[in-house]
Amino acid sequence: MELITILNRCHRFHGFVYSQARFSSDGRSIEIAVRPRKGSRPVCSRCHLPASGYDRLTERRFEFIPLWGYFVFLLYAMRRVDCPRCETAVVEEVPWGDGKRTLTRAYMLFLARWARRLSWKETAEAFHTSWDKVFDAVEHVVTFGLGHRTLGQVDAIGVDEIQYSKGHKYLTLVYQIDLGVTRLLWVGKERTIESFQGFFTVIGDEAASKIAFVCSDMWEPYLKVIREKCSDALHILDRFHIVAKMNKALDEVRAGESRRMSSEGRIPILKKSRWLLLKREENLKTEQRFRLRDLLRYNLKTVRAYLLKEAFQQLWDYNSPIWAGKFLDEWSRQVMRSRIEPMKRIARSMREHRELILNYFRAQKLLSSGVVEGLNNKAKVTMRKSYGFRTFRCLELALYHSLGKLPEPRSTHEFF
Ligand SMILES: [Zn+2]
Repeated sequence: MELITILNRCHRFHGFVYSQARFSSDGRSIEIAVRPRKGSRPVCSRCHLPASGYDRLTERRFEFIPLWGYFVFLLYAMRRVDCPRCETAVVEEVPWGDGKRTLTRAYMLFLARWARRLSWKETAEAFHTSWDKVFDAVEHVVTFGLGHRTLGQVDAIGVDEIQYSKGHKYLTLVYQIDLGVTRLLWVGKERTIESFQGFFTVIGDEAASKIAFVCSDMWEPYLKVIREKCSDALHILDRFHIVAKMNKALDEVRAGESRRMSSEGRIPILKKSRWLLLKREENLKTEQRFRLRDLLRYNLKTVRAYLLKEAFQQLWDYNSPIWAGKFLDEWSRQVMRSRIEPMKRIARSMREHRELILNYFRAQKLLSSGVVEGLNNKAKVTMRKSYGFRTFRCLELALYHSLGKLPEPRSTHEFF
């Protein structure tokens, strides 16, 4: 069986023929010459219609999927067409590649699929190619996907931010969190009003007005955009973020008190207590549970803050927004009397966002905020897997690629 027979079976295109396969002069690559079928007319790459040939350019090499340790290239001299519609000489369109890239579409799809499983660097190493070519491949596949995806009706969205570039920069991520469809819809630079508005520009006002639920954290610019763009939607403050804020406050109390105790020369009972206090009690090991119980006997600010935090967890057991509201008010009152400033700050913020928090119960807990948290964790894994992505563009592509559930370009064959 010859190579050309195989190619004709899996990678055949109307109007072109494989004329010859040979080794390159250094023996490392297989080169396959391609020529136009006799009598076939070239297609204008601008208007995508056939036109008459004008001249031919020098031969180009299109990289194809490697085979048994050999690089594989398709060799083809592009024709230029004299297009009466475009009124100029234009390079023809070829079905196996796009205008500017040196990789064939089949190879780009192949690399991009691997780049979803491995890091881009590992993908480049595994196939003896460069990081830039992997980037090109992912960009090609993602651009196609964004151009061909159907947004349909979006009932629920979650918006969240993520830090990158050693924590100095932020991205805004918008997810669809409908029951049954969860995917990343949009990636924006920064976490400003303008960046989140970018999402609404993309989906349009009509689609925005149909969104029934929005889930977010307490970041003011997001809250503002949601009030503006989705005024009819039920806006829910994300449970995960509330808990995270609470933990941050508790940690601040602990760190401050621990420092004070050590400067006053007291026994460092708070030393190594950080995770004991931040983890849910049911997630502690037996030995840690003993240590925690021991710690709770002391009359410390940290302990009082811890107990307030633990008491707050009851909120999530309520079903009725009215009773949840009563609980929240009572808890806030108690905290405001506590004289623990970081916790009081939380209580004030709870009061300020009371209605948004209670919307969680009004939505009958339908939206598990865990969905947003889960997606954001996946986004962080994508970022970590792709160290070396310092630019916004790389991250944007990688995130859409792994979380966007985008449609892929059609292929003539499954190359695995
Ligand atoms: Zn044309």
